[in-house]
Amino acid sequence: MFSSWLVRNALAHGCSPLAFSGVLWPGVRIWATDVDCGMKPSLLERLTSDDFPNVAVTARRFLTALNCVSNAEIGHGNVRWILSLGSRNRRHRCGLQYCPSCFEEGIPYFRYRWRFAWHTGCLRHGNCLLSRCMQCHTPIQPQLLKPPAIDCSVCHACGENLGSGLHNRVCLPGALQLQSVADHEMNFGSAAFAAGEWFEYAYLLLGVLRYAMRSQSGPTLRMLSSLGVEIEPHHQICSGLPLELLEVSERMQLLALLAPLVAHPPVVVVQAITEYKLPISVFGTHVSKTFIGTVARSLISATTVRAHKQYTFSKSRLPADRFVVEREWLRLQRKIFAYGHL
Ligand SMILES: [Zn+2]
Ligand SMILES: [Zn+2]
Repeated sequence: MFSSWLVRNALAHGCSPLAFSGVLWPGVRIWATDVDCGMKPSLLERLTSDDFPNVAVTARRFLTALNCVSNAEIGHGNVRWILSLGSRNRRHRCGLQYCPSCFEEGIPYFRYRWRFAWHTGCLRHGNCLLSRCMQCHTPIQPQLLKPPAIDCSVCHACGENLGSGLHNRVCLPGALQLQSVADHEMNFGSAAFAAGEWFEYAYLLLGVLRYAMRSQSGPTLRMLSSLGVEIEPHHQICSGLPLELLEVSERMQLLALLAPLVAHPPVVVVQAITEYKLPISVFGTHVSKTFIGTVARSLISATTVRAHKQYTFSKSRLPADRFVVEREWLRLQRKIFAYGHL
C-alpha cells in the first residue's frame, strides 16, 4: 500500500511520516486525506523519477483496482467495497487492517488488499485480520508513528507489538471462501459477469442479508433458506453503518453468509426473489445508487412492487369518505384564502 511505503520510508530515515511527506510535498497536508484512494495524480508525479522506482506505478495500479470494484467517484465520500478511514484531520476513526502472523513472519507492511471490505481474514494463515491494537483498542493508524519506532509493527498509541500471535482468532471459513471468490473476480473476472458487475451484484445481496437480519421478515428468511442461507438470531449487525465502516467481526459474519448466496448462478437467485415475492426494499438504500450491470438490473426487476404497495395502502391509506374529502377541501380553501390576504 502506498501509505505504508511512505510510513516505512519515513521511519527508516529516522523521521515521522509528517516530516517525510513535508519534504516530498511542501505545504500539502496529505495525511489529512486518504493517501491511497484520493492522492492527486499531480502529486504522484513527484515520485516518477528514478529515485522512486515503481512507487507511482503501484499507487496507480491500486486506483485501477478501485475503479473495477466501485463505480463511484474515488475520493468523494464513502466508496463501495473500500474500507473507510473515518478521517478527522490526521487521525482516523477506523483502523487499517493487518494480519499479526504476516507481521511476525517478515517485513511488516500493510498490503493494499487489506483496504478491501471483503478482506476479513488472512488466506495464508487462516486467522482474522485485526484493525485495533489488542492492548489499548486504539484503531491502527501507522501514519501517527514516530521514531524511535523503526517500522509499522508497533501500535502508535501504546507501543504494543502488533506482530504478536497471542490474539489470533480463526476466521470463518465462509468469509475466507467469499474472499477468494471476490479476489478472483477482481483479478480475472468471469464469464458470467462483466468487469465490476459481480461487485455490484454481491453488494445488493448483502443488502438482502442485512434486511433479513434487521426485519426478520418471513418471506425473506424463507427465500434465503431455500438458497442454503440460514439467518440465526445471533446474526445481528448492531449499528446501521455501511459495510465500509463496520468492524472486522461484523463484516466477517456478513460475508460468511454471502458466500453460499453468490455461489448460486444469478438466475437462481432471481427466480427465488420472484417466487417469494420480495419487495424492492430488501436491497436497502443501495438501489438508489447508479447501476451499470445487467445482472444487478435483473435482480431488481425480479422484485414485486405491487405486493409491497398493496400492503401499504390496505393498512394505512384507505380511501376516505366523500364527506370527509369535501370537508378537508373546504378547510384547505379557507387556509389558502386567509394566508393569501395576510
Ligand atoms: Zn497472515
Ligand atoms: Zn496500543
